[in-house]
Amino acid sequence: MSVPASTGGMPSLVGLIGHPVAGNPTGPMLEATFAHHGLDWRYVSMDVLPERLAPAVAGLAALGFRGFHVTVPHKVAVVGHMDRLTEAAALIGAVNCVIAEGDGWLGENTDGKGFLESLEAIVDPKGLRVCLLGAGGAARAVAVELALAGARSIEIVNRDATRARVLADLIADRTTASSSVRSWSAPIEIGAAVDLVVNATSLGLNDPDAGPELDFSRAAGPLVADVVVHPPLTRLLREAGAAGLRTLDGQGMLVNQGARGFRLWTGIEPDRAVMRAALAMR
Ligand code: NDP
Repeated sequence: MSVPASTGGMPSLVGLIGHPVAGNPTGPMLEATFAHHGLDWRYVSMDVLPERLAPAVAGLAALGFRGFHVTVPHKVAVVGHMDRLTEAAALIGAVNCVIAEGDGWLGENTDGKGFLESLEAIVDPKGLRVCLLGAGGAARAVAVELALAGARSIEIVNRDATRARVLADLIADRTTASSSVRSWSAPIEIGAAVDLVVNATSLGLNDPDAGPELDFSRAAGPLVADVVVHPPLTRLLREAGAAGLRTLDGQGMLVNQGARGFRLWTGIEPDRAVMRAALAMR
């Protein structure tokens, strides 16, 4: 599929496809950042039903979009509409950021890299023993990037055991990290041999009282991270903080993955303070 590079003096267009997309914070965050950098770019959030994905992607090419973000439920299905994939996107099996190249769409996955970047500000991922909650799109991205960054082992705890096993096999077969599966229970006990706990389920999203139930009584000081963006201080992070553990919220991941998309599309490194301020205003 041919993607036009020139916009002939018109604003450059990027955006988001998903269902639903109402309330997604990336549009306001990136619009504020385009304005800050004096770029004549627009970010359009578009609600696309699953059965309309193919014509929507073709339509974005016809309209000269420079790229687009992809969110639930299209991250896996959109792979079939890409002309090329980055190594990480191919491994993860999902795309959340698409870039128009001269002769087609390049599919990338910036979710895991965004997480890794915020993690690396606190701890070196090399050698970490990870307990990962979830096996959906975000969990796959986080697991693959952690493994590629040198994590020693990844234990996957997920409600759907088959999904957990598929992800564990991917990690064991395609990376140097070891992997294992634990069935979902309440509470999930975190043992002394865990350095990093990551909630990559949607438990806690838009509900400050919801979250996975963890037992830290045998833990030996792991860092506890949550990918949930809203609210930033999830129940899990409140409980981990009360237990004296270090925590990492999902907002850094969101800003980092948004910054990566911005840079891939425009070639400019965005001011992340502007992005964070735009998020805080929501
Ligand atoms: P998916 O639908 O692909 O996966 C959802 C995951 O949550 C699955 O592992 C699912 O388990 C689990 N889950 C859902 N409900 C429950 C429940 N009641 N009990 C136990 N497990 C449950 O979603 P994504 O992976 O795309 O998104 C997950 C989270 O990550 C969301 O909160 C999303 O907002 C966040 N996210 C944050 C980003 C950021 O930049 N901070 C970027 C991308 C996502 P099962 O397989 O058993 O159904």
